[in-house]
Amino acid sequence: MDHTSRVGCLSAWVGEKPLSPGWTVNPAQHPNALVLFDIDGTLIRRAGPHHRLALIHAIRRVTRLETTTDHIPLHGMLDPEILTRMMRNAGAGETLIRRAMPDIIRYAQHWYVRGCPDLTRKTCPGVRRLLSRLEAAGIPLGLVTGNVTRIGWKKLERAGLKGYFRLGAFGEMARDRAGLVRLALRDARARGWLDRSTRVSLIGDTPADVQAARANSIRAIAVYTGISTQEELAGCHPDLLLPDLRRLTPAMLLQFR
Ligand SMILES: [Mg+2]
Repeated sequence: MDHTSRVGCLSAWVGEKPLSPGWTVNPAQHPNALVLFDIDGTLIRRAGPHHRLALIHAIRRVTRLETTTDHIPLHGMLDPEILTRMMRNAGAGETLIRRAMPDIIRYAQHWYVRGCPDLTRKTCPGVRRLLSRLEAAGIPLGLVTGNVTRIGWKKLERAGLKGYFRLGAFGEMARDRAGLVRLALRDARARGWLDRSTRVSLIGDTPADVQAARANSIRAIAVYTGISTQEELAGCHPDLLLPDLRRLTPAMLLQFR
């Protein structure tokens, strides 16, 4: 059984809902576009060991297992997948992992939120300017991230970026990243932001982001500000491949297709 299928019901376990600031958008007053952003390696980089340590502490607290993220390719993975791999590598069985996961996620969030450092100087090049220009253009922005909900929002808050985002799909809400994109699109549709002509883009730094965009027939924009190299990302054939977000403009997000 694929381990990812085991984390599929985590949203039900954890009972989290997207923390949407609840802004409303008048469709007549904004361009017909939606832009979804990954967090790690795309908006923020070198955020320190706190996220990784929160996962380790939470597993220890709930299961008494000593774990590590060594030898796990973290980038592009959802937090519940990472937790599952960490516990498997420490010898945990599937039943323990499944039963412990809700408490582990809850405690990891609690630990991270209390100790998250200032991330205002950890944003990737061009991020603040782009978000500010997109906001000025009235384009709604959302998050699609493997971070669990409270960790994701806390990072954004400590980076001074939270206010730009109106919806989010987070690591515990679906079994894979494509499922997260699907949730974000459903949320946007429910708010009246999507119709057949809406230009929807997902911006991310890993092949997993590109594949999740493809699976949902939206535009994939890749930046190599994370761990994935230009060559790796080019191999996934994103619609647009950029060194960072400095060269991306609102017009480019409105003009495709
Ligand atoms: Mg990323």
